[in-house]
Amino acid sequence: MKNVVFIAPPAAGKGTHSNKLKEKYGYEHISTGDLLRNEINNKTEIGKKVKAVIDAGNLVEDDIIIKILESNLKSIAGKLFVLDGFPRNLNQAKKLTEIFKKLNIDYEVIFLLIDEQEAMKRTLGRIVCSCGKSYNIFNEDFKPKVEGICDVCNSKLVKRDDDNEESFKVRFQTFLKNNEPILEYYKKLDKLNVITVNKHSKFVFEDIEEVINGNY
Ligand code: AMP
Repeated sequence: MKNVVFIAPPAAGKGTHSNKLKEKYGYEHISTGDLLRNEINNKTEIGKKVKAVIDAGNLVEDDIIIKILESNLKSIAGKLFVLDGFPRNLNQAKKLTEIFKKLNIDYEVIFLLIDEQEAMKRTLGRIVCSCGKSYNIFNEDFKPKVEGICDVCNSKLVKRDDDNEESFKVRFQTFLKNNEPILEYYKKLDKLNVITVNKHSKFVFEDIEEVINGNY
């Protein structure tokens, strides 16, 4: 099976499908958003520096996130992983190629294609658990069994500080601006797999399984 790099706008399902890969196949799930939120929750120097940037929907400086990611990738050396939330611009994509070369890692890129209206609806309905599981109050298939409580660990579900309309719009525009060069870059490297998400999540996951098995 292949390592996966997800590229997608907010709320396209990167986190949800990463979790499924983790549950079904034992993938390590590296979410750069989660790594940054951990820094914020632990009130580290980095956390204090990035909180306002993240809440506003802007991107954290490349140097900061690249350093965090590289040490994380080293710590899981040899394990199968899914990378969720990186790269977010062409510079990060090129840096990632360097890191992968250095660590001798092979991978496939999966672009989850979603339109802005659907992504906004999903963002505004999203509630998350500190265990990494995410739910959606606007979608019957993704509601928790008990309102406001995680099905997996019984913790209280919360809304992310950046899951509001204003921040969503900044994040989506940033994504649109940066995404084209990233897609071109991975197309040239022959690593790009495009999956549309306007279908039931189980069919999206089936497509993802085709990619990790080299059949897409
Ligand atoms: P996510 O959980 O992937 O939606 O990320 C939440 C926020 O963390 C983003 O809106 C950015 O502010 C920040 N972030 C996550 N990954 C990156 C990255 N690769 N580069 C810069 N900022 C990032």
